[in-house]
Amino acid sequence: MDKINLLALNADEVKGFLTRFGEPAFRANQLLDWIWRKNADSFTEMSNLPLVLRRQLADVAVIGILKLLRTQESKDGTVKLLFALQDGQTVETVILPYDIGNSVCLSTQVGCKMGCAFCASGMPGFIRNLAQEEIMEQLLFARRIEQARGRRVKNVVLMGSGEPLDNWDEVLAFLQAVNDPQRLGMSLRHITLSTAGLIPKILELAAKKLPLNLAVSLHAADNDLRSRLLPVNKKYPVEELVAACDQYTAVTGRRVTYEYILLDNINDRPEHARRLTELLRGRLCHVNLIPLNPVAELPYRPSPPGRVKTFATVLEEAGLNVTVRRRLGSDIAAACGQLRNLFCGDPNEG
Ligand code: SF4
Repeated sequence: MDKINLLALNADEVKGFLTRFGEPAFRANQLLDWIWRKNADSFTEMSNLPLVLRRQLADVAVIGILKLLRTQESKDGTVKLLFALQDGQTVETVILPYDIGNSVCLSTQVGCKMGCAFCASGMPGFIRNLAQEEIMEQLLFARRIEQARGRRVKNVVLMGSGEPLDNWDEVLAFLQAVNDPQRLGMSLRHITLSTAGLIPKILELAAKKLPLNLAVSLHAADNDLRSRLLPVNKKYPVEELVAACDQYTAVTGRRVTYEYILLDNINDRPEHARRLTELLRGRLCHVNLIPLNPVAELPYRPSPPGRVKTFATVLEEAGLNVTVRRRLGSDIAAACGQLRNLFCGDPNEG
């Protein structure tokens, strides 16, 4: 019989689960405290629970199912983790070092349906959605690693493999677990959800009025180029996408971030920057310019630093709020999906 994964249960469900052992109600709070505050991954360490109960729990339950297959650490402090899931599929998680506190980049699907031209995660195609607890465990695992190194996780980005809005129910359940004071108890202000632009789901998300940061993978301001880079644009064109983001800002009061990966001679010339200013001028938004982490199998190369600077200047002169993201982890294949592809090949092939 499969053991129960306690990360899949909310506080009431944990309380219900513990009644079968005839334990007093406060035991459930102790158990929750070990899992969510003390970040325990085994029952052995739960020193204030009776030994008999710890053994009983170990017989029928687990705290997570991920198996760490590989860790890679970059010279700049970026840590990339490759996990095996229970069914043998694999996912990646990346810890990104920043002065203001580290970020963890989580995957929400195995593979991806979106087929973005520059992305390693989409290369194997879509395999399956991750369950809430599989997304959460990546975060708990990263938090444990960071705690052991005397650091803490400040921000979380749903920007690893997968399109989060294409895994709506599980991603919402994850956000609920993050925000639940009896579980992770973390403010959604520290969470950023990144989408390739699924407009109906952006609007549904806006209607929920969560204090969640929304990032949109834009990468081009005109439909021809954007449709070549992100096929989803054929269904949800850029003007409609930006209008949906305006709606998100109007309802939540939160500024949207537009991510723009600069690809050498593809979308990085001054005329592309000018198109972008025409699209975004006057909007409450932020533009994040991202130097590409090249993927060997794909034909794109990073823009030279001079062109990145010129591009940023055009946006700044038009009054847009711009940052150029530091390129992290380029020595360890940090573009999402790369580690998985390197070590696992195509899971469809075996
Ligand atoms: S960039 Fe994101 S949405 Fe596009 S294929 Fe990669 S994982 Fe999917």
